[in-house]
Amino acid sequence: MKCKVAILPKINEPFVIEECDLSDPSPAQVRLKVKTCTICHSDIHSVKGEHGSFEGSGTVGHEIAGIVDAVGSKVTYVKPGDRVIACIV
Ligand SMILES: [Zn+2]
Repeated sequence: MKCKVAILPKINEPFVIEECDLSDPSPAQVRLKVKTCTICHSDIHSVKGEHGSFEGSGTVGHEIAGIVDAVGSKVTYVKPGDRVIACIV
């Protein structure tokens, strides 16, 4: 599955939108079709480098709402088509 992602190439640099491939979910994972995403204060701290530096590039946006697209073989609490909210840590 293809998706677009906002990549932070380096701390305090503008985001770059790139297309990437998403793999199928592993047994305990859920893949979502994201409908909306917040940028919260902790994301801003990351962009400014206030959570420390990181190697390579990074992404932000960990509070999302969307529709379950696929589930791993061990997932029983949601199914494709379910509307969900998620906080990714
Ligand atoms: Zn947050």
